Amino acid sequence: MIEWLKNLINIDSPSNDKVALDTLARNLGEQLSNDGGAVEIIPNKVGGNHLIARFAGHSDDLKPILILGHLDTVWDKGESGRRPARLENGKLFGPGAFDMRGGITLILAMVHYLSKNKSQIKRPFTILFDSDEEVGTPTARTLIESEAKKSAVTLVLEPCIPGGALKTARKGVGTFKITASGLAAHAGIDYHNGVSAIQEVAHQILQLYDLNDFDKGTTVNPGVIRGGSRSNVVADQAEIEVDIRVKTISEGKRLVQKINALQTKLKGTVIKIEGSLNRPPLERTTQVIQLFQRARKLATELGIELREGSTGGGSDGCFTADMGIPTLDGLGPDGSGAHALDEHVVVESLVPRAALLTHLVLNL
Ligand SMILES: [Zn+2]
Repeated sequence: MIEWLKNLINIDSPSNDKVALDTLARNLGEQLSNDGGAVEIIPNKVGGNHLIARFAGHSDDLKPILILGHLDTVWDKGESGRRPARLENGKLFGPGAFDMRGGITLILAMVHYLSKNKSQIKRPFTILFDSDEEVGTPTARTLIESEAKKSAVTLVLEPCIPGGALKTARKGVGTFKITASGLAAHAGIDYHNGVSAIQEVAHQILQLYDLNDFDKGTTVNPGVIRGGSRSNVVADQAEIEVDIRVKTISEGKRLVQKINALQTKLKGTVIKIEGSLNRPPLERTTQVIQLFQRARKLATELGIELREGSTGGGSDGCFTADMGIPTLDGLGPDGSGAHALDEHVVVESLVPRAALLTHLVLNL
């Protein structure tokens, strides 16, 4: 597993690099096929290809388990050349180690074990690796949803909460762009004939901050601001990019409606509001709780004490949970530092987490 994980860390595959993603999909497809999977490469014209590997069980009348992972990382091409996989004090460091080369490694280990123990597989399972999770899954969402519809349960190999806890609640995520148009004018000669798009955007930003509701877990973050051309010109264009996070679907609907209802404050400006909630929240429903409790019981059989927690980050598990498919997220190995320079996987967690995944797949 250490060798597989090192190899994966040392291959860069940012979400926008089709050649790199296609190569990775092909190579992992070969490995999964050698271990008995029926592999399909799902071609993607506007991004990296997606990968599906299906494994038959003895009880093919049972609905399969869907296992989700992603091929892309947030790191640009060249990153692993500068920071190759490095094993230090029992931790394996490197770009994408925790998110989510580690999770892919567990899947490879499970499949390799099962290739020699085929008789143990009762319920069929389907592995789906998509290529664009880190940018909100624009091209793989329908594919994930159509596979989830056929499945009994979804297991997501995203990073756990550092320490090993699974993620039984995730916030829903949305992005918005608000563009204001005004009228340009000379700031000295003609100031009063101008209409400032920057001033309009300033009003919008304050209204957006007012929509924060920390008690409900709702956050609104105007994270990018752009506009104007010169300091001596009244700006005729300005825009903001906003990230929103919500804990429940109903709160998401309410917030989206509030943002779409924003009105201009200045006479003579026009605002355009674009965006939506692109990942629904993974709510800790009775269904999610029941699945977690079942998993916790199975984990005790391996001597593992499984805990749960929540996170503000979204994942592909949000889509499947939103469809009412019981979803368990955060099954990757222990580690920390996702998307950060100290990103790593705790090596001694690889074997127990691979065993846990295998035990869940064979017994859920
Ligand atoms: Zn991830």
